[in-house]
Amino acid sequence: MSTRRIVLATQNAHKVAELRAILADVASELDLEVVGASDWADAPDVVEDEVSFEGNARLKAQALAAHTGLPAVADDSGLAVEVLGGAPGIFSARWAGRHGDDRANLDLLLAQLADVKDEHRAAAFVCAAVLALPDGTFRSTEGHLSGSLAREPKGTNGFGYDPVLVVEGDGRHAAELSAEEKNAISHRGKAFRALVPHLRELLG
Ligand code: IMP
Repeated sequence: MSTRRIVLATQNAHKVAELRAILADVASELDLEVVGASDWADAPDVVEDEVSFEGNARLKAQALAAHTGLPAVADDSGLAVEVLGGAPGIFSARWAGRHGDDRANLDLLLAQLADVKDEHRAAAFVCAAVLALPDGTFRSTEGHLSGSLAREPKGTNGFGYDPVLVVEGDGRHAAELSAEEKNAISHRGKAFRALVPHLRELLG
């Protein structure tokens, strides 16, 4: 049997390596190779106009599966702050107005929560992962990394809001964790690991 490919909807080689490591066992069992969307120069640029992590991850996975004719995996993630009713949520990457301005995003969030007491600062990173087949069939999973919002950023690892999330049960800010420590407990790691039984179900 020849190796089948499964494609991850990202241009980020780091994310491909992370998914490959998580799926290593099931990939060898099912003879699957995980590749990135960068192998397709004309991969679709999807308008993420759903209003949930799961909806946007599904749009990306289904578009890529239809385009490549291969099973595709996509994820969508962000920070959900309890006192803000789940915001920034799907707007996490552009909370301060400019897409991907991590420092401005977390500065704005800290300013908005300046008067919120410690006991009301619960927040979580949330990730939805979707496995889609070219015929549109899909399965979705979700992972959380819970904690509370600090008052000052701390740590130099990671990205995005990592400097301001104090990890529940650990006490360090997410940006103080090594990449390995974070992968072991992260929302993305959990969502991707939860896809394993769905891979067996749909591709086994
Ligand atoms: P994406 O799903 O990778 O595009 O992430 C969307 C946005 O959510 C990022 O730009 C960050 O602001 C935030 N975010 C998602 N995951 C993390 C994380 O692990 N640490 C910090 N911020 C994150």
